[in-house]
Amino acid sequence: MTEILVLGAGMVGVSTALALQARGHAVTLVDRRPPGQETSHGNAGIIQVEAAEPYAMPRDLVTLLRYGLGRSNDLTYSLAGVGAMAPALWRYFRASAPARHKVASASYSLLTRRANRDHQPLIAASGSENLITRDGLAVLLRDRATLDAAAAEAEHLRAEYAVGSRIVDGAAWRAEEPALRLTPAGVVHYTDCWSVSDPGGLTAAYGALFERLGGRFLLADSDGLERRDGGWRLDTPEGAVDAEQAVICLGPWSGVFLRRFGLRVPMILKRGYHAHYDAPLRPRRPFVDAAHGVVLSNMRKGLRMTSGAAIVAQDAVAAPRQLTRAEAAVDPLIELGPRVEEPQWFGSRPCLPGMLPMVGALPGQPGLWANFGHGHQGFTLGPTTAALLAEAMAGEGGALHDVLSPATQLG
Ligand SMILES: Cc1cc2nc3c(=O)[nH]c(=O)nc-3n(C[C@H](O)[C@H](O)[C@H](O)COP(=O)(O)OP(=O)(O)OC[C@H]3O[C@@H](n4cnc5c(N)ncnc54)[C@H](O)[C@@H]3O)c2cc1C
Repeated sequence: MTEILVLGAGMVGVSTALALQARGHAVTLVDRRPPGQETSHGNAGIIQVEAAEPYAMPRDLVTLLRYGLGRSNDLTYSLAGVGAMAPALWRYFRASAPARHKVASASYSLLTRRANRDHQPLIAASGSENLITRDGLAVLLRDRATLDAAAAEAEHLRAEYAVGSRIVDGAAWRAEEPALRLTPAGVVHYTDCWSVSDPGGLTAAYGALFERLGGRFLLADSDGLERRDGGWRLDTPEGAVDAEQAVICLGPWSGVFLRRFGLRVPMILKRGYHAHYDAPLRPRRPFVDAAHGVVLSNMRKGLRMTSGAAIVAQDAVAAPRQLTRAEAAVDPLIELGPRVEEPQWFGSRPCLPGMLPMVGALPGQPGLWANFGHGHQGFTLGPTTAALLAEAMAGEGGALHDVLSPATQLG
């Protein structure tokens, strides 16, 4: 048994704490907020087994021009944001070249493929079945050309990675989804995705399970982590916690946190926003409105619309332009109803330029481990990379561990 500190209680951190606890370790999970209140709360809530290929940066001139001119709702940017992340964005651009993206996808698809399987025991043990719908994710296309392209993409994902899908024409889809008030050209229905009506609630339930099984959760800031007697010490309001090993699961905050240990982790933080609507009729399944770069998901709080990416400075004030733009475009498709009053939420997808999460021992820092950088799919992949990290800490390994390890990614 080893004393282990897990820093950060988002989906990745709580899953990591559970995986290490299951191996008999004494685990203390630390966060400055209760579990599941940051990025793992505000996302679209989809366990995205269709995302076998990580999100690459578009490289064609037409798309880049549309981004540059602010014509796409998928992405917005500020010069300050692009400037601050320029080196990481350049590496991301290079890693997105088709040959390199294909190599990254070969590893990524091994993660997404098992995501449902890795969540299932935690869903059951935490009593969270009431939050889960196993009815897939639809990508809704408004015109023939984009439908054909999306269908070709689905066929590629099926052939290459056995991702399940069906193509449904617009009229047939409206029969399945009476909440729609426009007939789209059609949809790609990725049948194996699951969706969660309260992503923060599921994360909190996993955190509660960890505590029920004897784990300790402490509300504290990780910033005081320091080396002590060959291990780690963190001062918390409940006293000092000593541990032999520490795992960094700080999501978007991981890169800045690690600077104090002389580690420079290039991160791209793609900000996203959400809003809830009191829609009179809810769709059965979450769907992507591809033309407007938003996802609509059923949540306990209302119909949640989540935005695409905004590349902005970390301290930039909330400017949910992508949501307000999409509102007008989405409403003819599905009646949104009144917006639920709440403070404007935003959070950042913690992306690494190589598009793979970083999982394993941090170089030059004995006893310090990484499990962060899950980008667009951290909610999906939390339990999966938690299992891989627990294996790596036990000295077990394999080709996938090598690819994800910080030594490989930072080297
Ligand atoms: C708009 C949007 C939609 C998304 N949709 C999906 C989706 O449908 N499916 C999917 O799989 N993924 C989705 N994602 C991505 C996903 O939400 C993230 O990849 C995932 O939540 C990251 O989890 P995490 O545990 O690494 O980070 P977080 O959930 O952010 O957890 C990090 C934790 O670290 C804590 N912390 C930070 N600094 C400190 C400190 N100094 N001291 C103590 N604690 C600290 C924070 O309080 C936080 O709880 C989406 C993201 C966005 C922004």
